[in-house]
Amino acid sequence: MAEIPNRVAAAFPRGMDLMHDPLLNKGTAFTEAERDAYWLRGLLPPYVHTQDEQKARVLQYLRRMADPLDKFIALNALHDRNEALFFRLVCDHVDEMQPLIYTPTVGLACQRFGQIFQRPRGIFICTRDRGHVASLLGNWPRKAGIIVVTDGERILGLGDQGAQGMGIPVGKLSLYTACAGIHPSLCLPITIDVGTNNETLLNDPFYIGLRQRRVTGAAYDELIDELVTAASEVFPGVVIQFEDFANHNAFRLLARYRERVCAFNDDIQGTASVALAGLYSALRVTGGKLADQKLLFLGAGEAATGIADLAVAAMVAQGLDKASARERCWLVDSRGLVVKSRSDLAEHKLHYAHEHAPVGDFPSAVKALMPSGIIGVAAVGGTFTREILEDMTRINQRPIVFALSNPTSKAECTAEQAYQWTSGRALFACGSPFDPLKVDGRTFVPRQGNNSYIFPGVGLGAIVSRARRVTDDMFMIAARTLAERVTESDLAQGSLYPALSRIREVSAAIAAAVAESAYASGLAGKARPQDVLEDVKANMYDPRYSSYL
Ligand code: NAD
Repeated sequence: MAEIPNRVAAAFPRGMDLMHDPLLNKGTAFTEAERDAYWLRGLLPPYVHTQDEQKARVLQYLRRMADPLDKFIALNALHDRNEALFFRLVCDHVDEMQPLIYTPTVGLACQRFGQIFQRPRGIFICTRDRGHVASLLGNWPRKAGIIVVTDGERILGLGDQGAQGMGIPVGKLSLYTACAGIHPSLCLPITIDVGTNNETLLNDPFYIGLRQRRVTGAAYDELIDELVTAASEVFPGVVIQFEDFANHNAFRLLARYRERVCAFNDDIQGTASVALAGLYSALRVTGGKLADQKLLFLGAGEAATGIADLAVAAMVAQGLDKASARERCWLVDSRGLVVKSRSDLAEHKLHYAHEHAPVGDFPSAVKALMPSGIIGVAAVGGTFTREILEDMTRINQRPIVFALSNPTSKAECTAEQAYQWTSGRALFACGSPFDPLKVDGRTFVPRQGNNSYIFPGVGLGAIVSRARRVTDDMFMIAARTLAERVTESDLAQGSLYPALSRIREVSAAIAAAVAESAYASGLAGKARPQDVLEDVKANMYDPRYSSYL
């Protein structure tokens, strides 16, 4: 049952104050006794609804709306009014609600954030706040357990959205609560506003951020450093998740802070873990070992190098040395195969710059390297052509084909193309949703390699065990745990991931595995409880109403 978050009984609000507190409000579902005890008589219409009835009411008006952005606005308003009802709705209808509160709709919501703005949520820190960040964090009314922070520079595939990137931390934290039961009172979204280079926003009268171009260099680094330091002081033990930073900051910020505080980057590490889980599932079908695979990535950014790094760590765990493991991962960027002789490579690609003659494009790289798996993360639609998939089918009995770019228009191939062009032999995962389909009389149920299988459980495990760090080992274990949740019947229908409707059970298992890793490695801030899974489950927020009496 939902607990009363972080409040002493004496401070429990009454009357209008109670109804205006979204963490406590129940609207028309306040019981008769609660109406008497908390001075609500007359402030509500007389009929007492159940939460089920309230949910049905919201569902029917949402479903009457045609435009996803209108649905986003309605859901956002509900979130600001009654969190328990919002999360009950999202938990019970996760397949329908996730695309509305997160991708793809949240992208449009960020672009229009100023136009649809109603009520602030989270903390906005701007360049003018340098020197005062701790006091800003002190304005937050509760103790944060997890922060999702962005600087808005690379929002999904939409580029620089400045302060309007706030839609992402808010949406992501909703998924932490919905998918893993992290209590909403522990969630703190933060946006760092260092300006924007997006001219449209700078000229938009409704834009909510600073009217200046992005600050870079030392001034930028100092503001981030002040935030990380202040967050750890104001909220000791807080988990910090970096989100949607541009490449040039994402890698170095992760490298700088992952050994200092309990921090991770979902675009790099969460993506890596969900992709690795897909590989583990695929290998359950082929019977092969990860250390024997040759993976060719289309793209060499956060997703590609993140996945490659974690795959290398997992191969090393299987006994391969690091150099040999890296040689099993190859990247193709917009200038061709990443090879040693190239002088134009950013630092994060250098580990994968192998000795090889230059190769100009992806189809030629497939022919030259004969990979067992291709992983598309370049955000260029239609790049897994018929020729490439036919080549992969000639090279492999069961080719691994992961078309992870999203939105759907950027997918390297559709599910139908993947199955049709490989005569149903592809072990396929996607970054965008595709409906079940029939190819050659067989029904396939392609499933999305969605990060929301991983980060909520990792965050919960870190919070519950009071982990001091989030390690690669934890992401590896999370991947293995996720793959173990895939059933034989999932695999038989081509699904490399479990159904999203099982997400809370999956997240609990991942959280327990992550917590076990923290206890075993001495990174936990508390003693290992006897039953780690039960401890995790006892900490999961349940959005069904509980009595306040
Ligand atoms: P990024 O900007 O860090 O990297 C993109 C990379 O693609 C860059 O290295 C760029 O050089 C390369 N690229 C661009 N055009 C190319 C071309 N024509 N040929 C070859 N390479 C090209 O972005 P990212 O965070 O790595 O995300 C990439 C894609 O993966 C996005 O579509 C994103 O939505 C998707 N993604 C999916 C998941 C998931 O499914 N779970 C998770 C994360 C990212």
